[in-house]
Amino acid sequence: MNTCSSISSATKLSTREILELDQKHLWHPYTAAKSRDPIFPVASAHGSTITLKSGETLIDGMASWWSVIHGYNHPELNQALSDQAQHFAHVMFGGFTHEPAARLAKQLVDITPTGLNRVFFSDSGSVAVEVAMKMALQYARSTGEKGKKRQRFLALKRGYHGDTFGAMSVCDPVTGMHQLFSEVLPKHIFADSPECAFNEPWQEHYFDNFKHTFLDNVNSLAAVILEPIVQGTGGMKFYAPSFLNRVRELCDDYGVLLIADEIATGLGRTGKLFACEHANISPDIMCLGKTLTAGYITLAATLCNDKVATGIDSTDDINDMKHKTVSNDSNPGVLMHGPTYMANPLACAVASKSIELLLNSPWQKSIEDINTGLIKGLKPAADLPGVKEVRTLGGIGVIEMHDPITLNEIQPKFVKEGIWLRPFGKLVYTIPSYSITKDELEFLCQKTIKVLKE
Ligand code: PMP
Repeated sequence: MNTCSSISSATKLSTREILELDQKHLWHPYTAAKSRDPIFPVASAHGSTITLKSGETLIDGMASWWSVIHGYNHPELNQALSDQAQHFAHVMFGGFTHEPAARLAKQLVDITPTGLNRVFFSDSGSVAVEVAMKMALQYARSTGEKGKKRQRFLALKRGYHGDTFGAMSVCDPVTGMHQLFSEVLPKHIFADSPECAFNEPWQEHYFDNFKHTFLDNVNSLAAVILEPIVQGTGGMKFYAPSFLNRVRELCDDYGVLLIADEIATGLGRTGKLFACEHANISPDIMCLGKTLTAGYITLAATLCNDKVATGIDSTDDINDMKHKTVSNDSNPGVLMHGPTYMANPLACAVASKSIELLLNSPWQKSIEDINTGLIKGLKPAADLPGVKEVRTLGGIGVIEMHDPITLNEIQPKFVKEGIWLRPFGKLVYTIPSYSITKDELEFLCQKTIKVLKE
């Protein structure tokens, strides 16, 4: 420990100092501690432009991993944040409640698919998935027949649900980035990734694998968990709404819960407010994150319907149970989760304002315009030799290459051309802010193709 040498918060750091400290002390996502990967210090961000400390400006094609939907540094979101900070930044949610959480819960219940009436706030997308899984397990436990254990999840190959242990266990066991931990993760069940693309005509045989896998394991299933319509990190694939309809029907027929992970798709990205709306279905449990605070502060929500909430609430003897330690075969009658920063008021206030901005904006038109711009702008990529497929859905544009891309080589080239993209595997993709202008989007597409050509 060396408290004397700590840098005071008033000390301005030069770019060189930031890079030195970063190199010495920081760890970036999915990198080695002593990584020498290119790293770019940011000075400011506004709208769809990120300005680097070096003075270069970049048109942002990533919306900070799907989250920034109204652009950076939005005056009304800034205001919502500072207004709430004048009152209180945080209070524990055990025993207290507050206006920002109550308002946001009501907004979410009003705009999400019918029946999702109960909201549990947590810290991040991965944690929202953990909470959803706990909800399903506790529901199965308190409502299930005695002696029947429904403790498995049925997930999809190519699925991705986050980086914490429960979430990792329902990510694709091979492509889900978590093979390293496979021996310590609980074993769940995986059906094939949906074969039918979003715009392809549906044929019933596309559902065979899922149906068989489901029926073979139905007595051990607590829930099905999937990303509706868009399998994101697992391959940026867009699949047919009919697949989702069939899953909902099957879950209903056999009393299995359906968890929709809308962390990447929620709040407009696919052209519907929620991707489940493409199939007109309502899940039993839904996870939201990323876009929820429009890129301001981490916050996630797990919503569930009354059936799930009431099921978890039920216990053999509620008065007795609440005061006892939970034994292996008892039902506590309470949801066993409670983060320190639960329903953080700053985050809830920003989220409320963001939803209001979204609903009061012509967001469907914005997404349609982005889609038109992406179709036109990325079309020339289809003729490049290394490109396998170009596809778009709503505000998502994907160029799938034949071979994996070396991030460290390509990212500095994008920066040199004035754009910000972060490809992974064989995928170069963009998910811009809904507020990106036509000219910015054109520039982004042109420069993407220029770099890929090279
Ligand atoms: N689910 C999905 C569908 C995601 O795309 C992600 C993040 N990429 C997560 C869960 C995890 O969210 P977080 O990074 O906020 O933990």
